[in-house]
Amino acid sequence: MGSWEDNVRKVVPYVPGEQPNQPDMIKLNTNENPYPPAPGVQKALSAMDAGQMRLYPDPASADLVHALADHYQVSPSQIFVGVGSDDVISMAFLTFFHGKKPVLFPDITYSFYEVWADVYRIPYRTIPLDDQFRICPEDYTLENGGIIFPNPNAPTGAAMNPEGVEQIIRQNPDSVVIVDEAYVDFGTASALPLLKKYDNLLVVQTFSKSRSMAGMRIGFAIGNEKLIRFMQDVKYSVNSYTMNRPSIFLGKAALQDDIYFRNTTRKIIETREWAKDELRKRGFHFADSKANFLFASHETVSAVKIFEGLRKRHIYVRYFNRPRIDNYLRITIGTKEQMQALFDALDEILR
Ligand SMILES: *Cc1c(COP(=O)(O)O)cnc(C)c1O
Repeated sequence: MGSWEDNVRKVVPYVPGEQPNQPDMIKLNTNENPYPPAPGVQKALSAMDAGQMRLYPDPASADLVHALADHYQVSPSQIFVGVGSDDVISMAFLTFFHGKKPVLFPDITYSFYEVWADVYRIPYRTIPLDDQFRICPEDYTLENGGIIFPNPNAPTGAAMNPEGVEQIIRQNPDSVVIVDEAYVDFGTASALPLLKKYDNLLVVQTFSKSRSMAGMRIGFAIGNEKLIRFMQDVKYSVNSYTMNRPSIFLGKAALQDDIYFRNTTRKIIETREWAKDELRKRGFHFADSKANFLFASHETVSAVKIFEGLRKRHIYVRYFNRPRIDNYLRITIGTKEQMQALFDALDEILR
C-alpha cells in the first residue's frame, strides 16, 4: 500500500443541521425563515430565461453588489458577495487570518469557525463566555492574529451592546475583527456605522435568515475598500464565478421590497417574545435571545429526552452534544401556528 494518505489534508468537518423531508414535519432546527421570500423574488424567478445559463455569470456580481451598496449606503467597492455567509467567512479566514498568533473566538459560538481554522491550519484560541453566556469584551485583549464573533451570538441568541462591539474593535487595531451578523435583522444594532471609524472591521451578513433565502446561498461582507480588495484577490485565486446568475438576479429582487422585509422580521420578533413567555411558563430558562431562535434548557427534563420526544412527533429542533451546552435545545422561531404545535407537544412530553 502506498503512503498517499500522508499527503491528505485531514479535517473533522462541520456537521450541518439535518434536512429531513416529511410532509407533516415542523422544521425548527436550522434557523430558516418560516415565511417565503419577498413576492418580487417569485416574479423575478418567473421572468428568468434559462437561455442565459449557457453564459458564465458576472464574476463581480455587479448588479447585486450595487443593490447592496444602495441599500446599506456604502460604496460598491466596500462590498464582497459570496455563496452564503459561510463562503464569505471562509474567504475572510483565508485572507485575514494568515498570521502566527491565535485567532480568538468564543468557546460557545458558531461551530464552523473552529472547522475553518482547522482546515486552513490557522492557530486559534477560544474565549469562554461568562456564566450567563455573554461575550465579555475585556477578555479580547490577548495577543491575537484576528477576532471573530457573531452578534447576536449563536447558538445562544444573546446580543452584545454596540459599546461592547466597539470596545473589541478599538482594543485590536492590529487585527481584523469580523462581526458575523447573521441574525442582526431580528433586533440588534449593526456594527456597520463603525466602519467610518475603524479600518479593521469586517461586517458579514446573509440572505439566509431574515430574507428567507437560505436555499439561494447569498451572503456578503462590508468593510473598507482595502479589506474587500484583499478578499477579492483571494476569491479570484480560488473560484472566479462563485455567484450564479439566479443568485445575483434574485438577491437583487429581494432587496427591493423593504416593507415585506420589515413585516416578516417584525412578525418573527413578536412570535419570539411570545414564545419566551410560553417556554418560561413550562419551566425553561434561556438567554435573552435577539435572534430568530431560542436556546433553552428545562429545569428538570433533559434536553435529549425533549429532543427525542419532539422528533418522534416530527418536530425538529437542534441539539448540540458539546461541553457547557449539552442540556440545551436551540429552537428556531417558526410561525405562531408552528410554535403552538411545539408547545402542545412539549405539554405532552413534560407531563
Ligand atoms: C446561519 C449562519 C451563518 C451562515 O449562513 P449562510 O446560510 O451560509 O449565509 C453564518 N454565521 C452564523 C452565526 C449563522 O448562524
